[in-house]
Amino acid sequence: MAEISIKRIEKFLVPYRIVKGKRFRLEDIDPGDTRGLKSEQKAEARELLARGVEWLAEEQEKLYAQDRWSVLLVFQAMDAAGKDSTIKHVMSGVNPQGVHVTSFKAPSAEELDHDFLWRCVKALPERGRIGIFNRSYYEEVLVVRVHQEFLAGQKLPPELVTRDVWQERFEAIRNFERYLARNGCLILKFFLHVSRGEQKKRFLERLDRPEKNWKFSSADVHERRHWKDYMRAYEDMIRRTAAEHAPWYVIPADNKWFTRLAVATAIVAGIGRLDLAFPKVDAAKRKDFAEARKALLED
Ligand code: ATP
Ligand code: MG
Repeated sequence: MAEISIKRIEKFLVPYRIVKGKRFRLEDIDPGDTRGLKSEQKAEARELLARGVEWLAEEQEKLYAQDRWSVLLVFQAMDAAGKDSTIKHVMSGVNPQGVHVTSFKAPSAEELDHDFLWRCVKALPERGRIGIFNRSYYEEVLVVRVHQEFLAGQKLPPELVTRDVWQERFEAIRNFERYLARNGCLILKFFLHVSRGEQKKRFLERLDRPEKNWKFSSADVHERRHWKDYMRAYEDMIRRTAAEHAPWYVIPADNKWFTRLAVATAIVAGIGRLDLAFPKVDAAKRKDFAEARKALLED
């Protein structure tokens, strides 16, 4: 089994783990930060990531065998911050049957005929499983807040849409997450914090490298004009929805090798705290096993 000290890695995460939002300021977290690790230590970081991935695979088996907890990992970020590749790398060792990724795009006509949590509730992980939300109900206080014309398209009764709408959505989300936590769902939320400059560099790469062309979207470039509004919305979102039972991890995302390591570390720490173990075999089961063994041998 991979040796991991949960205490040590919790220390590593301290600057990024937000559980009390009140004083949170996005400007306090530098997207280029690597927690003192130098880019020459990339190989070491990869080694650590590999250990984390291996550990996660082992824990996921226990999670499944126990069938008590579920794990919900929420990923939010600006375009090109590396959500997809982070999910891919961090989950690479886990049994695909134990994990389910759901990507939330602009809502469909059917989805708009329901409350905003509906489509996410449907995608929640069962006990024993890990659910990953690639974007989530948080889009409702991000893209919809930045582009308020989307709100008009949500078919809400007009008298219910007041200037308190965003605070009401935060309240709904807080209550929802508390409800899930009380039902045995471990919630970890990630904001991959990329800088505007690094995003530009990555968009240019998508244009310049044929194998990356498919990822390029001119709408994403247009969206950069709203950068400040997005950052304000992200900051407010974290301030209003960070909680001990549903922490936000604000992960510097200008260096992919660091982003992956930090996200894996946070997941290891979160699942580590559950102190999972394979279910114990009781005396009755042991007797049952002995009889089965006897039957098999005599077969
Ligand atoms: P990638 O670009 O890496 O494939 P993505 O998550 O950006 O991944 P897209 O299909 O490009 O996927 O974008 C999804 C879009 O849907 C985003 O711009 C997002 O803001 C938008 N979206 C998600 N939820 C909502 C919502 N509730 N209302 C309006 N737009 C939403
Ligand atoms: Mg996109």
